[in-house]
Amino acid sequence: MDTPSDKWSSARILWMHRWSPRLLSFRLSREPGFRFVPGQFARLGLLKENGAPVWRAYSMASATWDEHLEFYSIVVPDGAFTSRLEKMQVGDTLMIERQAIGFFTTNRFADGRDLWMLGTGTGLAPYLAILQDETTWQRFERLILVHGARSGEDLAYQAEIAALRSHPLWAEHGHKLIYQGVTTRDTLAGALHARLPELISSGSLEAALDIPLSLEASRIMICGSPAMVQDTHKALMARGFRLSRLAAPAHIAVENAW
Ligand SMILES: Cc1cc2nc3c(=O)[nH]c(=O)nc-3n(C[C@H](O)[C@H](O)[C@H](O)COP(=O)(O)OP(=O)(O)OC[C@H]3O[C@@H](n4cnc5c(N)ncnc54)[C@H](O)[C@@H]3O)c2cc1C
Repeated sequence: MDTPSDKWSSARILWMHRWSPRLLSFRLSREPGFRFVPGQFARLGLLKENGAPVWRAYSMASATWDEHLEFYSIVVPDGAFTSRLEKMQVGDTLMIERQAIGFFTTNRFADGRDLWMLGTGTGLAPYLAILQDETTWQRFERLILVHGARSGEDLAYQAEIAALRSHPLWAEHGHKLIYQGVTTRDTLAGALHARLPELISSGSLEAALDIPLSLEASRIMICGSPAMVQDTHKALMARGFRLSRLAAPAHIAVENAW
């Protein structure tokens, strides 16, 4: 391992959980000075066999106050980072940049009634941090989490998401959270079965949840594969929704998951 520097520190793997052959979660030790806004990401690094570092962006999936940092990861069989990550064990160390980055945060939105969090695959990760932020529960009237994956076994974190409703910090608002699973390959009871952009264009998502999307009430976050993000963004733009910027708050925030 290189020597820790002003730019990065070493972090120990404290916990690892395999959801499926393609998906795992892990927790890293956290330096007391590491701060982030829910929705941001950090760059994690590990060393290849030849000693060269590989750095990859990872969204924090844990609460800002947790003593550890949690991440939700894809496993790409020949991926430079994840093919090595999946072989690591508790006690091994990674590198983490000291500075969290990113603008996929709720403070870029104008006030609205409903926060829609649309994510596919590991695009769920930033929402797990956002949903562990008390202000999210106070600020919006409905928190609509839509998680898409190929199959039901890839819809990870369902029990943890359900348990968020009774967290003591926001239990009085617990009813605000609405969860909708979406699968594209399997059919699964309670899930919808189509790509997210089509569910938006056809109006099926709104119909299934009985919640209309509107310029006035809806603030929409989109995180997942670049194709999904682009197509969902387009489907929403066709209905008048606009990308939100810090200087010009509007309706949509997007983040590509790679
Ligand atoms: C802002 C940002 C945040 C990110 N947050 C996360 C995160 O929280 N969790 C996470 O697993 N990855 C995340 N990524 C992707 C991550 O940086 C790596 O691409 C991923 O860990 C795979 O690394 P790799 O070196 O093994 O493969 P790479 O060489 O990086 O990727 C190889 C191929 O694998 C596919 N791929 C890469 N990442 C994913 C993914 N997440 N889901 C499905 N297919 C993928 C793509 O087809 C890509 O071309 C994020 C990327 C960005 C830009």
